[in-house]
Amino acid sequence: MKTLIKNKDLEFMSAPEIIFCLFLLTPSFQGQAGTFVGNGGSPGDVELAIAKKHLDRTFKEFQEYDKHGPSLCTCAPEAKNRPMCSPLADLTLEQRSLCGRILFEKAGAMRRWVSPEAPLEVRWTREPIEVKENGVLRAVDAVMSRTTTEQGEGGRLTLNADRFLQMKPQERLFLLTHEFFHLEDWDGRPLVDEGPIGVFEGAEGGRKLINALAAAAVMEFYQSRIDTQFRQSLQRSQAYKPMWFDLQYESLQNGQSRPSTFGAGTTNPVQLQFRGYLISGVWGSLGLAAAFRFSNRSSNVLSSVDVRENIQQYGIGLSYKVNPFSDPTTGLGQSHFVSTVRYELGKSALRINDSSTGTEDSTDFGGFRAEMSYYFPFDWGFWLYVGGSYQQFNYSFTKVNLKYDKEQLGFFGGISYGF
Ligand SMILES: [Zn+2]
Repeated sequence: MKTLIKNKDLEFMSAPEIIFCLFLLTPSFQGQAGTFVGNGGSPGDVELAIAKKHLDRTFKEFQEYDKHGPSLCTCAPEAKNRPMCSPLADLTLEQRSLCGRILFEKAGAMRRWVSPEAPLEVRWTREPIEVKENGVLRAVDAVMSRTTTEQGEGGRLTLNADRFLQMKPQERLFLLTHEFFHLEDWDGRPLVDEGPIGVFEGAEGGRKLINALAAAAVMEFYQSRIDTQFRQSLQRSQAYKPMWFDLQYESLQNGQSRPSTFGAGTTNPVQLQFRGYLISGVWGSLGLAAAFRFSNRSSNVLSSVDVRENIQQYGIGLSYKVNPFSDPTTGLGQSHFVSTVRYELGKSALRINDSSTGTEDSTDFGGFRAEMSYYFPFDWGFWLYVGGSYQQFNYSFTKVNLKYDKEQLGFFGGISYGF
């Protein structure tokens, strides 16, 4: 279904599939791709934000260079023989000079494209992106097209989300550098893949130049140690994940309006929950939750009577997840709120023993339980959370005159994994 045509200029990429792109003056494919807008709630939003920061820092280096000659488009000695060098390997001195000049002169423009104010529209798609070039269909990872906006010339970048997530940071930098150069002109002509540009001659001249510019950016990325920056943001757990496991420990009030001899004080239920989100939008995500809870109460009456109550509950309900913060590259920006309401069925078993005799009883019950939690990210999908709960389950043990008839408030903390 997805066919890739390998291009000689791009064989240095280490990804299993090779990055392609195409400059389109007419956004003809726009209608067929299932697109959605990225705002921190979509896969790839964090990776794109970091790739833009990497691009900004890399071109800041180019801007600050006082030497801006052919040396910018030369393979770094430590990177020799590495595949990323190949777009730079066989350039003539004239080609290196032009490449270096463009990097230096366009550095400010490239930084403007990745600034928050840039007239740039980003679209994510899960569909394979295919474009027609010279009558041949190509699968691509990204497409940049020029747009006209109120702020002037703008760009529309469409990215394949799955492919973008699989890439390494340097591959994303290469892809973005290539794509953003398509929004720039040189010698009064748009920088396009097809056809010659200056000393980059031939039908593939433009692509060779743009790939050299992108490879030079990757060199700078390593040499200025920009690759070590924002690593933490890329490892941090991301809130958009659709499936979650929660394990929590709670301190829960006693649900008795009148304390009885056999009721204990607070209990500490342990809960395991699964949440799966089915629909999401800018308003948040809505899904289903299923949970299992258990707790043990024990107390001593008159120092010789041992009272134990064992409670097990199963619940199913709805869960709503919302992220009110704006910057997805920060821990605060990934933190979010979850509210869940479940209907639960439970069983309680009571056992009372003293030195000579004992009695047992058990009962079933049902009711609603609501939880509100705040999640804060760790790395690699793990989270910490805290929250509060409200529940009311009415049941009683007639044999021993023990009655639960009051709402209960609880406070809990837990660890979570989202994937
Ligand atoms: Zn291109």
